[in-house]
Amino acid sequence: MNASEFRRRGKEMVDYIANYIESIEGRQVYPSVEPGYLRPLIPSCAPQEPDTYEDIMDDVEKIIMPGVTHWHSPRFFAYFPTASSYPAMLADMLCGAIGCIGFSWAASPACTELETVMLDWLGKMLRLPPAFLAEEAGAGGGVIQGSASEATLVALLAARSRATRQLQAAQPGLPEAAVLEKLVAYASDQAHCSVERAALIGGVKFRAIPSDGKFAMRASALTGALERDRAAGLVPFFVVATLGTTSCCSFDSISEVGPICDRENLWLHIDAAYAGSAFICPEFRHLLDGVEFADSFNFNPHKWLLVNFDCSAMWVKRRADLTGAFKLDPVYLQHSHQDSGLITDYRHWQLPLGRRFRSLKMWFVFRMYGVTGLQAYIRKHVRLAQEFQSLVNQDPRFEVCAEVTLGLVCFRLKGSNTLNEHLLDRINSAREIHLVPCRLRDKFVLRFAICSRTVESAHVQRAWEHIQGLAAALLEAGQA
Ligand SMILES: *Cc1c(COP(=O)(O)O)cnc(C)c1O
Repeated sequence: MNASEFRRRGKEMVDYIANYIESIEGRQVYPSVEPGYLRPLIPSCAPQEPDTYEDIMDDVEKIIMPGVTHWHSPRFFAYFPTASSYPAMLADMLCGAIGCIGFSWAASPACTELETVMLDWLGKMLRLPPAFLAEEAGAGGGVIQGSASEATLVALLAARSRATRQLQAAQPGLPEAAVLEKLVAYASDQAHCSVERAALIGGVKFRAIPSDGKFAMRASALTGALERDRAAGLVPFFVVATLGTTSCCSFDSISEVGPICDRENLWLHIDAAYAGSAFICPEFRHLLDGVEFADSFNFNPHKWLLVNFDCSAMWVKRRADLTGAFKLDPVYLQHSHQDSGLITDYRHWQLPLGRRFRSLKMWFVFRMYGVTGLQAYIRKHVRLAQEFQSLVNQDPRFEVCAEVTLGLVCFRLKGSNTLNEHLLDRINSAREIHLVPCRLRDKFVLRFAICSRTVESAHVQRAWEHIQGLAAALLEAGQA
């Protein structure tokens, strides 16, 4: 493909994308394919001679689209949102074209510098304490990770390294292996599974702290676990607090947990993967109170802030905690500016070496929407969730199962888990809308998450009528 064909195909692709998004509602939100559907539809080897572009695009409609779950459909209410906006898609095109690998400042200065400034912009939108910002040569700063799971792992590994150094300083000669087997990480029993996984990968013990009646981690449960582990000769070193849990969007009490971590010298990492975007609205900012106690804070603009995947924003109070844990400097990656103190080499802040120019997406989105546009977007989603909640509350056959703070409503039919499993089966088999469940204690619960950029009140109303219809048929069948 030469430049002139790229010009033509590129314009066609933009039209294809705009048509796809505009008419997405007409597509079946959840595909009707069985596992293994795709292999028989395409050749078993790559073509020896080139295919034509027309053939490829034909196959996109024939082979790919029938197997796509349409996450951006206004009929999609599953998981949490994944962000999508036109400015972010355009910036992603440019990112692909520049195609630099920004592992160090010298590897592409704009890639590093824009990222540092964008994380400061975003940090200020959230009113993060200045300690987390890089500007004016502070000790903190932000970085874009690929995912919240990666951010948690990076935080855990940095905390592990800091704890090991401190223990070895206190007890010279103590072997690293002896330290490792004593280290314990903590999170609530509602934390995302990526937290336990980070502990597994990091080779440290993990404790799930029982959450309270509102699915929040509280001081008393945490201190109890810390005391038991210290009494057993173990070394607590790392706590993850979740703001906006995946199951029901509950909030750990960081104003309680924070001071404990501070007092006991535990690294506090805050995972606000979904909810973090809402903190740009003053009315939700109080949910972040206590962040001043954290060593690291993370949320995903790629979930709810209109920046397409991947873009997970992570801030640390002390950059040196990361670079101290992950820094290696082989000759082929060194450059003449690196010791000037002004330079960030982001490869020391992350697991991979290579990194894309992801801050372009943030820059385009923040400028095209403005803070007020982004706030309006968050508020619209929250309003739609409240609308759905009030619909559920008006129907005595149903109950809402957890407090609705942002864009997620957990609900169920009053009755057995089996009844609710059947309801979800019927919903997802009908393929009008798409939902996923969660378990809250011993209850099987349906999650209704406001996801699509284009979802409106009418979609929420229709979804609810659809759910009611299926529930009525199910209850009738049960009585027959
Ligand atoms: C979605 C989510 C994650 C995982 O996010 P990734 O970016 O996919 O790793 C982690 N924690 C919480 C609370 C989440 O909601």
